[in-house]
Amino acid sequence: MDQYSETSHSGAEDGRLKLHGRVSVAQVEEGVQLAPRFDSDGLIACVTTDVTSGDVLMVGYMNREALERTIETGDAHYWSRARQVLWRKGATSGLTQSVVEMRIDDDQDAVWLRVRVAGSGASCHVGYRSCFYRRVRTGNERSAGHDLVFTEEHKTFDPAEVYGDVANPTVL
Ligand SMILES: [Zn+2]
Repeated sequence: MDQYSETSHSGAEDGRLKLHGRVSVAQVEEGVQLAPRFDSDGLIACVTTDVTSGDVLMVGYMNREALERTIETGDAHYWSRARQVLWRKGATSGLTQSVVEMRIDDDQDAVWLRVRVAGSGASCHVGYRSCFYRRVRTGNERSAGHDLVFTEEHKTFDPAEVYGDVANPTVL
């Protein structure tokens, strides 16, 4: 029996996941219970990487339900802040993210998903593999030209074809 054994079963009686309340620093940092901290909007940040290449694909947010569904199904779910909806990644595009490993950070306020992406392997709604398809010139390189330099030469799919007239989630 561990120190926090009173609620240490990972699944509730109906088989549904049970997230734990946060009771101590020791529990959160050194324990074996998942006790995530959601921010004032009820969200936790999630960085998602490609399990094969190691590249960062995207940074998203999960509410409690998105986190629970990701754990229960093994498919990445996120909360869209722009559209204010729970969203199973790839529901529209077919570019689903199958979770190979989920990690939680020290204070349990950020998640890292290592995923295998279906189809073309793209994760970005703009059509690129990674949402981080441009780099920002820094330091001495700043004078070399434009602020941003593309790091992916081609889109892997045509967003207009895949998403049709679904509203663009990018907010100005
Ligand atoms: Zn993107």
